[in-house]
Amino acid sequence: MAENPFFAPSNLPYELPPFADIREEHYLPAFELGMAEQLAEVEAIAGSTEPATFDNTIAALERSGRILDRTATVFFSVAASNSTDGIMEIEKQISPELTRHGDAIRLNRALWARIKQVTTDDAEESWLLEKYRDDFIRAGADLSESEQARLRELNEELSKLSTRFSQSLLKASTESALVVTDPAELDGFDQAKIESLRKDGEYVLPLLNFTNQPGLAQLTDRDVRRRLYELSVGRAPGNFELAARMAALRAERAALLGFPNHAAYIVADQTAKTVEAVEEMLGQLVGPAVRNARKEAEALAEQAGFEIEPWDWSYYSEKVRQARYDFDGAEMRPYFELNRVYRDGVFFAATKLYGITFAERPDLGGYHPDVTVFEVFNEDGGRLGLFVLDPYARATKRGGAWMNNLVDQSFLFGQLPVVMNNLNVTKPASGPTLLTYEEVNTAFHEFGHALHGLFSQVRYPRVSGTSVPRDFVEYPSQVNEMWATWPEVLANYAKHHETGEPMPVSLVDKLTAAEKFNQGFKTVEYLAATLLDWAWHKLAPGETVADAEAFEAAALEAAGIAFALVRTRYRTNYFAHIFAGGYSAGYYSYIWSEVLDAESVEWFKENGGLTRANGDHFRGELLSRGGSLDPLTAFRNFRGREPSIQPLLTRRGLD
Ligand SMILES: [Zn+2]
Repeated sequence: MAENPFFAPSNLPYELPPFADIREEHYLPAFELGMAEQLAEVEAIAGSTEPATFDNTIAALERSGRILDRTATVFFSVAASNSTDGIMEIEKQISPELTRHGDAIRLNRALWARIKQVTTDDAEESWLLEKYRDDFIRAGADLSESEQARLRELNEELSKLSTRFSQSLLKASTESALVVTDPAELDGFDQAKIESLRKDGEYVLPLLNFTNQPGLAQLTDRDVRRRLYELSVGRAPGNFELAARMAALRAERAALLGFPNHAAYIVADQTAKTVEAVEEMLGQLVGPAVRNARKEAEALAEQAGFEIEPWDWSYYSEKVRQARYDFDGAEMRPYFELNRVYRDGVFFAATKLYGITFAERPDLGGYHPDVTVFEVFNEDGGRLGLFVLDPYARATKRGGAWMNNLVDQSFLFGQLPVVMNNLNVTKPASGPTLLTYEEVNTAFHEFGHALHGLFSQVRYPRVSGTSVPRDFVEYPSQVNEMWATWPEVLANYAKHHETGEPMPVSLVDKLTAAEKFNQGFKTVEYLAATLLDWAWHKLAPGETVADAEAFEAAALEAAGIAFALVRTRYRTNYFAHIFAGGYSAGYYSYIWSEVLDAESVEWFKENGGLTRANGDHFRGELLSRGGSLDPLTAFRNFRGREPSIQPLLTRRGLD
């Protein structure tokens, strides 16, 4: 056990976790020791006979649980990106234990009594102290013993259900994959794509974790499209029941904590603050979005020459795009080679804005050979942190794209950040990796989160980097998307992978024009998911749902977003954001953040775009501040005014 790599800080640069030394059998003992160590530390803080001060209480809590923190960070990163049966077993066992552990700290009465006695005059400390008080109250610190006992049961049950939900979803991506024996059925895919799907004499197209599978845009056989679509919307059917159970338990927990429903509980500590504020915003968007989508549907039916079905939407919208804008997404891919997109696009834009530079560190590795580590430097050559990139899809990786921290920046521990981006790009059997325009956009988006982590300049880990409210965290990442099509950036990376020729200007113009197309579809599928999340989490305590599929249909109908041709981006059974991730009653966050994003994009354009001065202003007022001050104050400091919804409405064609 002396060799367990989690027991001591990593010796690698930036304390990058020593992945090469970590084996599955290290996790459980490290979790156990980590929890025991932190409980002992907490007992010492709670039992102190000194008067409670910021340092001996709040800062002491920040310093506690180092082994647990190291272990959990690595474990959950690997569980998301490279899970095995062994990892899944550990996750099942450890998730409820971690929930119990968190409750043991936040429901510790002696500790809570001391936190209430702490005072401080320092601004950053006083913001953190408020956060702690809020965390404890929201976790039930003020409840009676019997209420707390019920709360612990609810939390543990919810954590088990959430793990089951996510694990059955991971299995469903391959178990519900489209399988064909005759490659002719895959007509529309290019030869390389078809080859990459070949497994044991069959062709297997795994499901990505959203309704509208990318293959629907290309597959020419209508019946194959229908099968793919039905597999997509029908996957993991057992999850409907888990979701209904989770929603009921969350409603009960909200009631215990003094809220009318889970949504009200969640938004109370977000920038939105109230259910009404969220609903007022969504209310402005639903009507115009559905009208736009209906108009798009008419154009598609005209193109097809018959009444289309939901599995025809992507296929004919590609056709209309080609006809109207002479735009073919496939024409772009040769100009979007993965390495070039990063080095000459994503990194290039960051260098122009912030002066930072990147050097690959082949001597440092991740948990999989496809993971690449880059060292990041400030303009003056000073060390900034590590950026770890895991671009490829694999059967052991969950769907979607995300950023996570492997090491949090904090002055408290003198630690520089190690941040990660995960994408789900299909790895070609051979040759270069060519991206779609959507994947390029995702690369810029996730890197926006990475910058938020890398630029963090805060004292305490609790408020480091992206530790901001969910309805704020998407904002910096969305802003970074603007550079994907910024002329100077695009010209630098969009070069043909064989000839090195820049992407023809005509293609660039078409890309910009075609971006406006299909906005109705995109907004409706997003809003439907948002309103579905909302309906599940506005259940009143005691209200139960026997038929989750019927509930889903009724909820979308009632919200005015039901439209047979454009289904919700996530149905209940695969809505991992809200039943397996941290976004319950929080999926609205993306469009909420987009208000700030649209405002900020306008600011950059008004001030000359891609310049060092603009980058420094955004970095100084916003990106470097993490969660160390009120997020809307940080926004106002950056933008110089209150946010308005108008730029968003214009961008989405909703005004
Ligand atoms: Zn994001």
